[in-house]
Amino acid sequence: MTKTLQIDVNPMLCASQERAIFGELKFDELKQIQQDIEPSSAPIIADVMFSKEGKFVVLTGRIAGDLVLQCAACLEPTVFKVDVDVKLAVINDEARLSLVPEGYEPYLFAGDSLLMSEVIESEVVMVLPSIARHEVCPVELPKNSTGKDFKLKTDVKKNPFEALGSLKKKH
Ligand SMILES: [Zn+2]
Repeated sequence: MTKTLQIDVNPMLCASQERAIFGELKFDELKQIQQDIEPSSAPIIADVMFSKEGKFVVLTGRIAGDLVLQCAACLEPTVFKVDVDVKLAVINDEARLSLVPEGYEPYLFAGDSLLMSEVIESEVVMVLPSIARHEVCPVELPKNSTGKDFKLKTDVKKNPFEALGSLKKKH
């Protein structure tokens, strides 16, 4: 029923045909985010259409799917709902970046064709959280561990020299 998104399309041609593309991206087809999600993630479903907005080729529609991420606090899986309203102006000329119609995000590509799976996945990359966490973890966490770990880690990152300094003193 669903089709693959591993297709090369010519955006100009698609826009003149107002071509609609419906397809899915499975876990093993995801290149950029595969390491950030669990294999049990549901496929990403894209329902998009090419058309023209003035002189621009635009891609509009919706991308949805349930990705399974690992909660940074309890390490249990947590579902992240992807639901993206797609509104892209597809261009292959950087000079036109500033002319993109209002309300559209530019999507720059090289050459004459566009790999649909790449376009769709790049939209998912934009919404994926860098740190996934349950609102309320399903398992009980050790006391005071919530959040504290993060704070400790970021403190170390912020000030690497402090740690160095204390090492030097010891020797
Ligand atoms: Zn959790």
